[in-house]
Amino acid sequence: MNKTDFKMGQKEPDLHINKPPEKKIWQKQGPFSLWYFIIMFLLFYLFQSSLQIKREEIPYSQFMQYLQAGQIAECVIKQNIIVGTLKLMDQKTGKPRRFVTIRLRDAQLVKALDQHGVKYTAAIESHFLSNLIFTWIIPFGLIFLLWSYLGKKMGSAGMNFLNIGKNKAHIHVDNLPKVTFKDAAGVDEAKQELREVVEFLRNPEHFQRLGGHMPKGVLLTGPPGTGKTLLARAVSGEAGVPFFNISGSDFIEMFVGVGAARVRDLFEQARKKAPCIIFIDELDAIGRQRGGPVVMGGHDEREQTLNQLLVEMDGFDSSKGVVVLSATNRPDVLDKALLRPGRFDRQIVVDKPDLQGRIEILKIHTRELILAPDVDLEIVAKRTPGFVGADLANVANEAAILAARKNRDAITTADFEAAIDRVIAGPEKKKTTLGPEEKHRVSYHESGHTLIAELVPTGEPVHKVSIIPRGIGALGYTLQLPEKEKFLATKKELMDQIAILLGGRVAEEIIFGDVSTGAQNDLERASEVARNMVCSYGMSEKMGPLTFGKKQTSLFLGTEYGQEKNYSEETAKEIDAEVKKIISTNYERVKNLLEENRPLLDALAKKLEEKEVLSGEEVEGIVKQA
Ligand code: ADP
Ligand code: MG
Ligand code: ZN
Repeated sequence: MNKTDFKMGQKEPDLHINKPPEKKIWQKQGPFSLWYFIIMFLLFYLFQSSLQIKREEIPYSQFMQYLQAGQIAECVIKQNIIVGTLKLMDQKTGKPRRFVTIRLRDAQLVKALDQHGVKYTAAIESHFLSNLIFTWIIPFGLIFLLWSYLGKKMGSAGMNFLNIGKNKAHIHVDNLPKVTFKDAAGVDEAKQELREVVEFLRNPEHFQRLGGHMPKGVLLTGPPGTGKTLLARAVSGEAGVPFFNISGSDFIEMFVGVGAARVRDLFEQARKKAPCIIFIDELDAIGRQRGGPVVMGGHDEREQTLNQLLVEMDGFDSSKGVVVLSATNRPDVLDKALLRPGRFDRQIVVDKPDLQGRIEILKIHTRELILAPDVDLEIVAKRTPGFVGADLANVANEAAILAARKNRDAITTADFEAAIDRVIAGPEKKKTTLGPEEKHRVSYHESGHTLIAELVPTGEPVHKVSIIPRGIGALGYTLQLPEKEKFLATKKELMDQIAILLGGRVAEEIIFGDVSTGAQNDLERASEVARNMVCSYGMSEKMGPLTFGKKQTSLFLGTEYGQEKNYSEETAKEIDAEVKKIISTNYERVKNLLEENRPLLDALAKKLEEKEVLSGEEVEGIVKQA
């Protein structure tokens, strides 16, 4: 993550925003800069050399000779050297000559000095200046240099030694394009709810006179990339109020207590600027349930920060016009205390966009692009079920880049197709093409999925099959395109889904007599569907319409992070048996289907191996010809 002083809300590089240049560490950085240091060092050096008195350096033997000759006026005996003046005059200056010599261990010296009537004293050598330079200035200089260097590497975070606890939240800078509700689409419900917040911020007193009651905290929840951060910025843009933006992870510092100090500071600043918005992005970074397992010692710090946040939220009066907006994609892990009345008591769900939403979002992100007349955004939207706003922005961007690379005047449908593939599976890896053996196998594997998808009753039509390796882990893929968006799945459909997932592995087994590791992900997904059918959807006749296990599933990410087992060991065995049965039933079904249609499978695989990518029509052509 790039921590710049200009961090405003969006972390993802937004195409249309010219980010202000990052501050260079060597440039102005308050009163304590490298130049001050260098100048000070030079001054010290000059000062010291001006203090130094010119002395002749003479050997000890010479010193003894002068002594014997009675030519020494006086001397000072130090630990390691003897300095003094001669009775001889310097020709140029007319002053007594000064000398310095290295002192030897000479027990007779004092006697000799007495004999010749030399005035002598002993003194402890003064190392003041060299001490200053060697033990203070140089080490500190080195530390400073090292630290600046590290600071440069880490961005402005390195400078935080100087302003620990100072706030990193920044007021909305106006040179960033103002974001309004027009820039977010497909999230109409969320916008509707946020309009109320905007109304309140525009005119807090008026709002209250009418009896409106404003919640202190509004929590935006939803999957990553759906536009939560965007919406928060839009609220500030619409209301025209300052925007204090800080990310949950910014609070977690290397020093204990800094996070809490930051929270205090943030609220203090905000109160001065009311009406305004405090936006805490990624709230889950500080707001995780307390009392969990200690992770890498960072636990105390987070708890302190969270406690401070709770204190601040309780302590301020929302009628003054400060609204705390917050966003997270893990509302399930938040500490319950955060969701109590008077804190983030209003939750707004920012969900994945539907077809119409995706069309609108694509319109927004292609506003400034030149599209060829044949481009139909509706088709692009149809091709991208499950895509969130950030993905779609990415698709538009990739399409523009691809078109530019091909020196086209406008972005074509083909560019969008390629862009979607890229976003789905990561950039195409032309270099790591499969060896002929592997290519043969992957062709059959993908053809297995494809053929089963075409053969089972509820299978959605295959839109595209590819054996071009992409990114890590995906050697090929079969893409099905639902004819319309589905929100429910029947048992039949789920069974067919499992069959399609198994298709790849079974095809490999039939053709090559053994299986490869390439089906791991397919099997994982098939097992998960089957387990859900038994445990969550009550679709197993034997187990009956019951659910088993209380899943702690994140509503939004669809990821499970734990399961509470609320059934007996025996039931567990039965569940396993049922899951196994569903899988094996389908396995048999797929095996029969593929064996019966072996000529089709061969034809598909041959064509796929040859062309590497088959479109839906091509697949249909082959399957229909039978
Ligand atoms: P989140 O905070 O929910 O993870 P962001 O707000 O950071 O998502 O979205 C990242 C980018 O994706 C935005 O800057 C915007 O360009 C695009 N985007 C996301 N959602 C939308 C949307 N609903 N409408 C338009 N653009 C969107
Ligand atoms: Mg975000
Ligand atoms: Zn597969």
